[in-house]
Amino acid sequence: CGIVGVLGNHEAAPLLVEALKRLEYRGYDSAGIATVNAGKLDRRRAVGKLVNLSDLLVHNPLAGKAGIGHTRWATHGAATVANAHPHRAGGVAVVHNGIIENFRDLRAELAADGYVQESETDTETIVLLVKRAMDRGAAPVEAAKDTLARLHGAFALCFLFDGHDDLMIAARKGSPLAIGWGEGEMFVGSDAIALAPMTDRITYLEEGDWAVITRAGAEIYDAENRRANRAETRIQLDA
Ligand code: GLU
Repeated sequence: CGIVGVLGNHEAAPLLVEALKRLEYRGYDSAGIATVNAGKLDRRRAVGKLVNLSDLLVHNPLAGKAGIGHTRWATHGAATVANAHPHRAGGVAVVHNGIIENFRDLRAELAADGYVQESETDTETIVLLVKRAMDRGAAPVEAAKDTLARLHGAFALCFLFDGHDDLMIAARKGSPLAIGWGEGEMFVGSDAIALAPMTDRITYLEEGDWAVITRAGAEIYDAENRRANRAETRIQLDA
């Protein structure tokens, strides 16, 4: 329901939790974050209020300056830790808002290839598609691009990759997503309000857009995979 992503110069976990708090108004039943630290992807997830995730992080911290976070409003699969986001398959993690309409067909196709889901969500199907593409030799950007072409439905997505602490891939179709620009830092959020503590420089992805994001900036592509220029706006908050 709420998405956030950080490629920062400070520890990501506190920024992610703070941004998720600013998305609480959307409602949620569980929450989680994933980071890449020293090249290694790891995650923490908790059912219920964000304070449960915060408590978990006190006892079980998650270091790293690159990360993604999510507040989930379950549509497919109960509100359990196993169904909470970020979903992960091997070296790929994703957070997802919305619904993948054709996930049952995709899940069956993946299972026939030996890629079996651990959760009941439509979201895990996405991450397994990316993993399969990477297992077949695709680089992260290629794998994400090919996966997006297979998805029907409404979604906002943000991917993070093991071994890559300067890469996020974001996509928007039927569910809003904003990219935030910092000084040598980049951010992703369901809305600009989530990113307000980090930046007021925002680029909204348009319908069908996807973006390759590093600390140096964002390359945005349209639904036909052509480079797209999207305006940067300064948003005024707490006016
Ligand atoms: N359909 C996904 C799920 O049930 C995402 C729900 C959301 O937007 O939070 O896990």
